[in-house]
Amino acid sequence: MEFRLIDRIRERTALARGDVRLGIGDDAAVLAVPAGQELAVAIDTLVEGVHFPRGTAPAAIGWKALAVNLSDLAAMGAAPAWALLALTLPSAEPGWVDGLAEGFAELAGEHGLALVGGDTTRGPLCLSVAVHGFVPSGQALTRAGARPGDAIMVTGTLGDAAGGLRLTREGAMPDRMRVDHAHLLARLDRPTPRVRAGLALRTRAHACIDVSDGLLADLGHLCAASGVGAELDVETLPLSAALRTVFGAAAARECALAGGDDYELCFTVSPEDVTDVESALAAVACPVSRIGRIVAGEGVRVPGAAVPSSVGWDHFAR
Ligand code: ADP
Ligand code: MG
Repeated sequence: MEFRLIDRIRERTALARGDVRLGIGDDAAVLAVPAGQELAVAIDTLVEGVHFPRGTAPAAIGWKALAVNLSDLAAMGAAPAWALLALTLPSAEPGWVDGLAEGFAELAGEHGLALVGGDTTRGPLCLSVAVHGFVPSGQALTRAGARPGDAIMVTGTLGDAAGGLRLTREGAMPDRMRVDHAHLLARLDRPTPRVRAGLALRTRAHACIDVSDGLLADLGHLCAASGVGAELDVETLPLSAALRTVFGAAAARECALAGGDDYELCFTVSPEDVTDVESALAAVACPVSRIGRIVAGEGVRVPGAAVPSSVGWDHFAR
């Protein structure tokens, strides 16, 4: 039974890469790292009832489990190559596993990533995805390296996933026929990892992090790793029209500062490189905004804004 499930996953995620000497089916995968490259590896776990509500569509779970990991590779400036999938299932439901594999494969295909192995066990629904990506030796982007005077920039818009989560929790059911509700829910269920932006930033950014726990929390991590502080211009936070329409400007700003699950990239560059970064990201169709500056000292300040008392993902815990 388990083998048939594995076959279903293998068929649906099949993607040929010359560097996969041996993929799913043996005791271990055998993989060739190109000369001159280093491996960036990351793993993230999604637990039903903690990271996604019971009843979430399997394709959305498969997509998101990979997306959160690709976002980590993007933040390192790494090019995705391979993944492992450890799957714990309460029962062997082929239709459900097919959906999961298809959601995973849709995003994996966009980035030429091959699923090369994994593990399948019985138990409460939970999945771990491990990803492997390449980065030229010594060129990985890290959280350290931000310098006082740097411009702070962020891709895309912030707070949409937190808005989508609020929609699913507040008394009224979200209205999927409403374009703005659908936008926020899609941002929560199917985040877009900024892989191509990460590659473009590799030679340009001083420091980079992906926004998974909320801007204040994650920029705080970047500052701590770099030994600097940050000052944000609250008026420049990129907010989607959908978020502002549904919640109003003040709540939208709070979602942008403290809400998690956006999977955008926050990074710092020399002020004189801002224009170059803007055109490099435009070339990969990735919107970007300048939202503040790195300062000497520590901590993240947002002059003129009432900063939410508790920051980060827990603020909007499901
Ligand atoms: P073993 O007991 O030797 O670890 P398994 O029966 O667990 O072998 O796995 C058989 C093959 O199927 C291995 O190549 C493994 O990597 C792969 N595999 C198992 N589960 C999954 C999964 N959920 N996704 C992808 N590959 C898997
Ligand atoms: Mg095994």
